[in-house]
Amino acid sequence: MTNQLIVLAGPTAVGKGTVVKHILGHYPNVHLSVSATTRSPRPGEIEGQSYFFLTHEKFDEMIASGDMLEYAVVHGENKYGTPKQPVLDALKEGKQVILEIDIQGARQVKKSMPEAKLVFIAPPSWYDLVMRLQGRGTETAVEQTRRLETAKLELAAQSEFDYVVINDEVARCASEVVDLMQA
Ligand code: 5GP
Repeated sequence: MTNQLIVLAGPTAVGKGTVVKHILGHYPNVHLSVSATTRSPRPGEIEGQSYFFLTHEKFDEMIASGDMLEYAVVHGENKYGTPKQPVLDALKEGKQVILEIDIQGARQVKKSMPEAKLVFIAPPSWYDLVMRLQGRGTETAVEQTRRLETAKLELAAQSEFDYVVINDEVARCASEVVDLMQA
Protein backbone atom coordinates (compact mmCIF):
# COMPACT_ATOMS: atom_id res chain seq x y z
CA MET A 1 0.00 0.00 0.00
CA THR A 2 2.76 2.42 0.91
CA ASN A 3 4.31 2.15 -2.56
CA GLN A 4 1.56 4.61 -3.45
CA LEU A 5 3.27 7.13 -1.21
CA ILE A 6 5.72 9.57 -2.73
CA VAL A 7 7.79 12.01 -0.76
CA LEU A 8 8.95 15.15 -2.54
CA ALA A 9 11.72 17.13 -0.94
CA GLY A 10 14.20 19.67 -2.19
CA PRO A 11 15.69 23.02 -1.29
CA THR A 12 13.76 26.20 -0.65
CA ALA A 13 12.40 27.97 -3.77
CA VAL A 14 13.16 25.03 -6.05
CA GLY A 15 9.53 25.14 -7.16
CA LYS A 16 8.17 22.01 -5.46
CA GLY A 17 4.85 23.76 -4.88
CA THR A 18 4.43 24.63 -8.55
CA VAL A 19 5.29 21.10 -9.62
CA VAL A 20 2.79 19.66 -7.14
CA LYS A 21 0.08 22.09 -8.31
CA HIS A 22 0.68 20.96 -11.88
CA ILE A 23 0.37 17.30 -10.88
CA LEU A 24 -2.84 17.89 -8.91
CA GLY A 25 -4.34 19.78 -11.84
CA HIS A 26 -3.64 16.94 -14.27
CA TYR A 27 -3.93 13.73 -12.24
CA PRO A 28 -7.16 13.44 -10.23
CA ASN A 29 -6.14 10.27 -8.37
CA VAL A 30 -3.32 12.09 -6.61
CA HIS A 31 -3.88 13.36 -3.08
CA LEU A 32 -1.63 16.01 -1.55
CA SER A 33 -1.14 15.75 2.19
CA VAL A 34 -1.82 19.07 3.94
CA SER A 35 0.91 19.71 6.50
CA ALA A 36 0.62 21.30 9.89
CA THR A 37 2.91 24.15 10.88
CA THR A 38 3.54 26.57 13.72
CA ARG A 39 4.55 29.37 11.36
CA SER A 40 2.14 32.23 10.66
CA PRO A 41 0.12 32.26 7.44
CA ARG A 42 1.50 34.31 4.55
CA PRO A 43 -0.88 36.59 2.69
CA GLY A 44 -3.24 34.47 0.61
CA GLU A 45 -2.62 31.22 2.47
CA ILE A 46 -5.75 29.35 3.49
CA GLU A 47 -6.20 27.34 6.69
CA GLY A 48 -6.69 23.66 5.89
CA GLN A 49 -5.54 24.09 2.28
CA SER A 50 -2.10 25.66 2.43
CA TYR A 51 -1.42 24.28 5.90
CA PHE A 52 -3.12 23.62 9.20
CA PHE A 53 -1.76 26.58 11.15
CA LEU A 54 -1.32 25.39 14.74
CA THR A 55 -0.05 26.87 17.98
CA HIS A 56 3.14 25.32 19.38
CA GLU A 57 1.00 23.81 22.13
CA LYS A 58 -1.45 22.11 19.76
CA PHE A 59 1.41 20.89 17.56
CA ASP A 60 3.15 19.31 20.55
CA GLU A 61 -0.11 17.66 21.60
CA MET A 62 -0.38 16.01 18.19
CA ILE A 63 3.20 14.72 18.44
CA ALA A 64 2.54 13.36 21.93
CA SER A 65 -0.61 11.53 20.85
CA GLY A 66 1.18 9.92 17.89
CA ASP A 67 -0.89 11.81 15.32
CA MET A 68 2.11 12.97 13.25
CA LEU A 69 3.57 10.65 10.63
CA GLU A 70 6.72 12.79 10.80
CA TYR A 71 7.69 16.28 11.91
CA ALA A 72 10.73 18.52 11.97
CA VAL A 73 11.94 21.96 12.91
CA VAL A 74 12.64 23.60 9.55
CA HIS A 75 14.94 26.56 8.93
CA GLY A 76 15.78 26.58 12.64
CA GLU A 77 12.50 28.13 13.63
CA ASN A 78 9.11 26.55 13.20
CA LYS A 79 7.77 23.01 13.37
CA TYR A 80 6.23 21.38 10.33
CA GLY A 81 4.60 17.96 10.28
CA THR A 82 2.37 15.51 8.41
CA PRO A 83 -0.91 14.58 10.13
CA LYS A 84 -0.99 10.78 9.92
CA GLN A 85 -4.65 9.84 9.60
CA PRO A 86 -5.48 11.71 6.35
CA VAL A 87 -2.51 10.00 4.66
CA LEU A 88 -3.63 6.54 5.79
CA ASP A 89 -7.22 7.28 4.71
CA ALA A 90 -6.16 8.43 1.23
CA LEU A 91 -3.92 5.37 0.75
CA LYS A 92 -6.82 3.14 1.84
CA GLU A 93 -9.00 4.81 -0.81
CA GLY A 94 -6.42 3.76 -3.41
CA LYS A 95 -5.06 7.24 -4.00
CA GLN A 96 -1.48 8.12 -4.76
CA VAL A 97 -0.33 10.37 -1.95
CA ILE A 98 2.28 13.11 -2.18
CA LEU A 99 4.05 14.52 0.84
CA GLU A 100 5.88 17.77 0.17
CA ILE A 101 8.17 17.93 3.16
CA ASP A 102 11.72 18.68 4.22
CA ILE A 103 14.60 16.26 4.18
CA GLN A 104 14.48 15.41 7.90
CA GLY A 105 10.82 14.44 7.47
CA ALA A 106 11.63 12.42 4.34
CA ARG A 107 14.15 10.37 6.34
CA GLN A 108 11.55 9.65 9.03
CA VAL A 109 8.95 8.51 6.48
CA LYS A 110 11.48 6.19 4.83
CA LYS A 111 12.08 4.60 8.23
CA SER A 112 8.44 4.05 9.13
CA MET A 113 7.22 3.31 5.58
CA PRO A 114 10.20 1.87 3.66
CA GLU A 115 8.28 1.39 0.40
CA ALA A 116 7.66 5.11 0.13
CA LYS A 117 9.50 6.60 -2.85
CA LEU A 118 11.75 9.51 -2.01
CA VAL A 119 12.14 12.03 -4.80
CA PHE A 120 14.52 14.96 -4.58
CA ILE A 121 13.60 17.98 -6.68
CA ALA A 122 16.83 19.76 -7.59
CA PRO A 123 17.40 23.16 -9.21
CA PRO A 124 19.27 23.36 -12.53
CA SER A 125 22.04 25.25 -10.67
CA TRP A 126 22.85 27.02 -7.40
CA TYR A 127 22.64 30.39 -9.18
CA ASP A 128 19.17 29.53 -10.43
CA LEU A 129 18.05 28.70 -6.87
CA VAL A 130 19.33 31.99 -5.45
CA MET A 131 17.60 33.92 -8.24
CA ARG A 132 14.30 32.13 -7.62
CA LEU A 133 14.42 32.81 -3.89
CA GLN A 134 15.25 36.48 -4.35
CA GLY A 135 12.73 36.79 -7.17
CA ARG A 136 9.73 35.59 -5.20
CA GLY A 137 10.44 38.18 -2.54
CA THR A 138 8.36 36.55 0.19
CA GLU A 139 11.19 36.39 2.74
CA THR A 140 13.33 39.05 4.38
CA ALA A 141 17.07 39.16 3.60
CA VAL A 142 17.82 37.45 6.92
CA GLU A 143 15.28 34.74 6.22
CA GLN A 144 16.67 34.26 2.68
CA THR A 145 20.16 33.75 4.06
CA ARG A 146 18.88 31.21 6.58
CA ARG A 147 16.99 29.33 3.86
CA LEU A 148 20.04 29.22 1.60
CA GLU A 149 22.08 27.76 4.46
CA THR A 150 19.47 25.01 4.83
CA ALA A 151 19.45 24.56 1.05
CA LYS A 152 23.20 23.81 1.02
CA LEU A 153 22.69 21.00 3.54
CA GLU A 154 19.71 19.66 1.61
CA LEU A 155 21.54 19.63 -1.72
CA ALA A 156 24.35 17.71 -0.08
CA ALA A 157 21.88 14.99 0.97
CA GLN A 158 20.37 14.20 -2.42
CA SER A 159 22.18 10.87 -2.65
CA GLU A 160 19.92 9.57 0.15
CA PHE A 161 16.95 9.80 -2.19
CA ASP A 162 15.60 7.10 -4.50
CA TYR A 163 15.36 9.56 -7.42
CA VAL A 164 16.58 13.05 -8.30
CA VAL A 165 14.48 15.11 -10.71
CA ILE A 166 15.69 18.48 -11.98
CA ASN A 167 13.09 21.22 -12.08
CA ASP A 168 14.22 22.88 -15.29
CA GLU A 169 10.68 23.15 -16.61
CA VAL A 170 7.54 22.61 -14.54
CA ALA A 171 5.49 20.40 -16.89
CA ARG A 172 8.49 18.23 -17.74
CA CYS A 173 9.50 17.84 -14.11
CA ALA A 174 5.89 17.05 -13.10
CA SER A 175 5.55 14.36 -15.75
CA GLU A 176 8.82 12.76 -14.65
CA VAL A 177 7.52 12.66 -11.06
CA VAL A 178 4.23 11.13 -12.23
CA ASP A 179 6.13 8.47 -14.21
CA LEU A 180 8.02 7.60 -11.03
CA MET A 181 4.77 7.39 -9.05
CA GLN A 182 3.37 4.96 -11.59
CA ALA A 183 6.54 2.92 -11.97
P1 5GP B 1 7.35 27.19 3.92
O1 5GP B 1 7.51 27.90 5.23
O2 5GP B 1 8.10 27.87 2.81
O3 5GP B 1 5.91 26.92 3.56
O4 5GP B 1 8.01 25.74 4.08
C1 5GP B 1 9.30 25.63 4.56
C2 5GP B 1 9.76 24.20 4.45
O5 5GP B 1 9.00 23.34 5.28
C3 5GP B 1 9.70 23.61 3.06
O6 5GP B 1 10.99 23.27 2.64
C4 5GP B 1 8.87 22.37 3.20
O7 5GP B 1 9.42 21.29 2.48
C5 5GP B 1 8.90 22.08 4.68
N1 5GP B 1 7.68 21.40 5.08
C6 5GP B 1 6.41 21.74 4.74
N2 5GP B 1 5.55 20.88 5.29
C7 5GP B 1 6.27 19.96 5.97
C8 5GP B 1 5.93 18.81 6.76
O8 5GP B 1 4.78 18.41 6.91
N3 5GP B 1 6.96 18.13 7.31
C9 5GP B 1 8.26 18.50 7.17
N4 5GP B 1 9.18 17.76 7.75
N5 5GP B 1 8.61 19.57 6.45
C10 5GP B 1 7.63 20.30 5.86
